Amino acid sequence: MQIVSSIPEIRVAVRALRARNGAASGRSVGFVPTMGALHEGHRSLLQAARSRCEIVVASIFVNPTQFGPNEDFNRYPRTLEQDCRMLEAEGVDLVFTPTAEIMYPPGVSTFVEVAGVSDRLDGASRPGHFRGVATVVAKLFHIVQPDCAFFGQKDAAQVAVLRQMVRDLNLPVEIAICPIVREPDGLALSSRNGYLSVEERRQALSLSRALFAAEALAKQGEHRAETLLLAMRACLQQEPALRVDYVAVVDPDTLLPLEDAANGALLAVAAHVGGTRLIDNILLPPTR
Ligand code: AMP
Repeated sequence: MQIVSSIPEIRVAVRALRARNGAASGRSVGFVPTMGALHEGHRSLLQAARSRCEIVVASIFVNPTQFGPNEDFNRYPRTLEQDCRMLEAEGVDLVFTPTAEIMYPPGVSTFVEVAGVSDRLDGASRPGHFRGVATVVAKLFHIVQPDCAFFGQKDAAQVAVLRQMVRDLNLPVEIAICPIVREPDGLALSSRNGYLSVEERRQALSLSRALFAAEALAKQGEHRAETLLLAMRACLQQEPALRVDYVAVVDPDTLLPLEDAANGALLAVAAHVGGTRLIDNILLPPTR
């Protein structure tokens, strides 16, 4: 496994791997962008990439432009050595670990703004977050030039923003979405779960519990968004220490609110548990 930090190096390395064995059209490149502090959720993306593509490239970059001024950029966990052990074990060919100066040299003034969808759900409470995400992912796509990029359903709003970006900018990249990996008790894995105390970890369970409660209602035939929202809110209210950011039943592509979930819907929640902001969601399939 090769680890490189500079843009010229990664370009040369991807080109060399693609051309290996003299394949006429070049071997396929799967790409898994991450911020490191890797866990089993990230592993599932690496495995999906390994099973679908001939070459797997991962990146580790804690992207400063997607953090707000009062967010956790400085204390975000950085565990490069441990991360590299997982990447190596999952058969990753190439790891890109740029610095902030490499990705954003002095004087950069071009950003990618996916209007509309970027202002909904997490975008509403984290202004500028998706501008940072879209910008860094567009830059990484241009640097790595993958055939397919793998993202987690865990970040459902990010999925909507990136799909729209790829469509609007005609980027030649397929976006593959992998299911949410959870702890046995339902908590969605997140690099931020490490911030939680034992008591906060217990409180955090109400996010997935709320989603599962609404999903159970939907399975019984309930498709009115208002009823699903009430069920989720009732569940979250059982943990008064939790500060709810949003509870939503939305269209998974536009992130606009739905009144009826019968054609499929994204159920999404975000809440602050102590000083940690957590998100979770479930996709309801169409029922008619
Ligand atoms: P991050 O390092 O948090 O930026 O996440 C990198 C990628 O891993 C993103 O596409 C996330 O959606 C995905 N991811 C994070 N947590 C999970 C999870 N629990 N299950 C599946 N994918 C995840």
